[in-house]
Amino acid sequence: MTVALLGFPWDGSSSYARGPALAPAVIRSVLFSEASSPYSLSGADARQAIAAYDFADLPEDPEACRTAIEERVAAALAAKQRPLSLGGDHSVTFPILRAMRDAHGPVNVLHVDAHPDLYDELNGDRYSHACPFARAVEEGCIGHLVQVGIRSATPEQRAFAEKHDIVMLGADQTDAIDYHRLVAPLYISIDLDGLDPAFAPGVSHPEPGGLSTREVLAILKKLGAAPVGADVVELNPEKDVGLATAHVAARLVKELAAMMADAQP
Ligand code: MN
Ligand code: MN
Repeated sequence: MTVALLGFPWDGSSSYARGPALAPAVIRSVLFSEASSPYSLSGADARQAIAAYDFADLPEDPEACRTAIEERVAAALAAKQRPLSLGGDHSVTFPILRAMRDAHGPVNVLHVDAHPDLYDELNGDRYSHACPFARAVEEGCIGHLVQVGIRSATPEQRAFAEKHDIVMLGADQTDAIDYHRLVAPLYISIDLDGLDPAFAPGVSHPEPGGLSTREVLAILKKLGAAPVGADVVELNPEKDVGLATAHVAARLVKELAAMMADAQP
């Protein structure tokens, strides 16, 4: 299988700071720069795994934007490619998961984040970057949802998680990840603020006490199923220190691409 790298430069659904729209181009620029190796930790050449690129602009209207994202993911899937998406803010994941559901049925999701993103609405927006997993669960896009790195859950979001059998784990609970829930068809969504700001300072909503880069890589290594799709979201280049967070994003893209290229059609 080949991987399609999709850039979704959208931050119109962010509640606080703009900037993630700049991220796809930044990640792409460091991905295969001479500053770092193109090889995954397992020795796969990510340049070979990623066979297609789609970094087209998106409409400014939020609903039209979500439709465009869903259509572009669906087009990649129709071309027998595995979509590896770069946000953008986390709102892009809901339309991605709609397309994944239409192709695969409900997908099991590993969700790395400081935030559960299970709000019913935020500031009147039901499609905010604080809401994508609530919408995806409601629309039957997700089978099992396992969240890791969470350190900002509100009572409302805890109640939603309990109601829908969502596993919500803190950054200190990686040993409690139930990998039996993370079977095929598997989707991985990584919000970079799930990592500690020491490792990934370039985000809009830093929450100290998060995962290390190596902890995230170790979790990925333990997964039994090759993901059918993945995303890396919420890099805010305007908050980054040097290109530290962009390089973390690029490392994760290389690992995910290698894992996805192993997936059976
Ligand atoms: Mn998020
Ligand atoms: Mn977050």
